[in-house]
Amino acid sequence: MFPQSREAALSQWRTFLPQAPTYGANRSLVVPGHPHVTRLSPAISRRLITEEELLTSLKQSHPLARVEKLAQEILWRPYWKGWLEYHPAVWSTYRTQVAALTPAHGARLADITAGRSGIAIMDYFIRELLESGWLHNHARLWVAAWWVHHEQLPWELGAHFFLQHLLDADPASNTLSWRWVAGRHTRGKAYLVRRSNLEACLDPSLLAQHSAGLERLADEHAAAVPLPPEPDFPTTAVDPLPSSPGPLEGRWGVWVHEEDLALETYPPLAGLRPQAVGSILSHSLRVEQSLSDQRWDHLRACLHDGATRLATHFQCPADVEAAPDLVQGLVDWAHARQLQTVVTLQPWVGPLADQLPAVIKALQSRGIRLVRLRRPFDALLLPHATKGFFHFWKSARETLTLEHPVP
Ligand SMILES: Cc1cc2nc3c(=O)[nH]c(=O)nc-3n(C[C@H](O)[C@H](O)[C@H](O)COP(=O)(O)OP(=O)(O)OC[C@H]3O[C@@H](n4cnc5c(N)ncnc54)[C@H](O)[C@@H]3O)c2cc1C
Repeated sequence: MFPQSREAALSQWRTFLPQAPTYGANRSLVVPGHPHVTRLSPAISRRLITEEELLTSLKQSHPLARVEKLAQEILWRPYWKGWLEYHPAVWSTYRTQVAALTPAHGARLADITAGRSGIAIMDYFIRELLESGWLHNHARLWVAAWWVHHEQLPWELGAHFFLQHLLDADPASNTLSWRWVAGRHTRGKAYLVRRSNLEACLDPSLLAQHSAGLERLADEHAAAVPLPPEPDFPTTAVDPLPSSPGPLEGRWGVWVHEEDLALETYPPLAGLRPQAVGSILSHSLRVEQSLSDQRWDHLRACLHDGATRLATHFQCPADVEAAPDLVQGLVDWAHARQLQTVVTLQPWVGPLADQLPAVIKALQSRGIRLVRLRRPFDALLLPHATKGFFHFWKSARETLTLEHPVP
């Protein structure tokens, strides 16, 4: 159901494209099979298919006015990624809090994350997440709101639970959505789950089958949990990175990672000829984030698809190395391929970027240079992600000329 290759993602997108004009009206309906949404997030978050490609083909197929809602939703992820890039302390604080808060909530957490809360519809969503690795956006909102405001569990633990299981796990979209639901992102605004909203959006037979405990979600019980104060997170400057590596001497290779697996769509890089492509499956990253088996298998399949495709594109060998940790895995790979330079796309704030200082240092100690690039699409949008989404959307519309039909 969820693509783990670029070919499958492109095919799923082509199938969905004719219904893009009805997306805005139907996207909130939660029905089995989820036919009203693209279900492409596991492919988009690994960039088996890129937002730029999606927006270009939307432009080619429909006037913006008919597909504006879908274009906006596609841009939410680049917005969240940009926003977190300017506020990295939100990520590091959240990571510290997960470790600090877990012990105090053990028993209730165990029940809830096993789908034994007593509110049958929420238990159904939890089981759907555990079994499929995915949830509809509305189900994510309801689960998060119920977790934070009804169960009064810390949002950080919910965000961590989602990251372990979601195939589309994205540090920015996930962390910032949870913060928004909790009332942390926009001061004075929290998202609340209400029975009437479930009744309006959820397939009636599904709700009928899972109605036990629904009275606990009655509209009159909906209230935001008061939050303790938290520090202000300052806006941090973001490194301006080049989009092209410039002249490269000696042997060089591309480290392709799970945040961007369609490098052949990236012109400054696509036309070059590296001597090797490498991807690292890091066991320690898996353990540190407690990734589910399903999430791990999806990641492995996506990395294999990316590396194999890029080997064909660049006509060079590709390695997908399973390694105890990312740093050692990369150093060993670069050494084995006798590389003097490794080129990669800069990871966004998240688990990979957390490892970057150690990666740079270890490569340097072997005399290997790491060249970090940013896609032109990301470089164009990033400066607009410091304020709210609608400011970002307005700027993106102009910058990407979304209103101009493509001949
Ligand atoms: C608590 C919570 C946690 C979330 N965690 C993640 C996550 O880890 N990874 C993730 O990709 N999305 C996350 N989302 C956003 C959203 O729920 C999913 O992107 C969406 O449900 C994926 O389904 P789809 O591909 O069918 O989306 P569609 O509705 O078909 O939209 C197309 C694409 O637009 C983007 N998109 C749509 N809605 C959003 C949104 N609200 N925020 C950011 N991007 C969006 C996604 O890339 C999506 O694939 C989260 C939302 C909530 C409320």
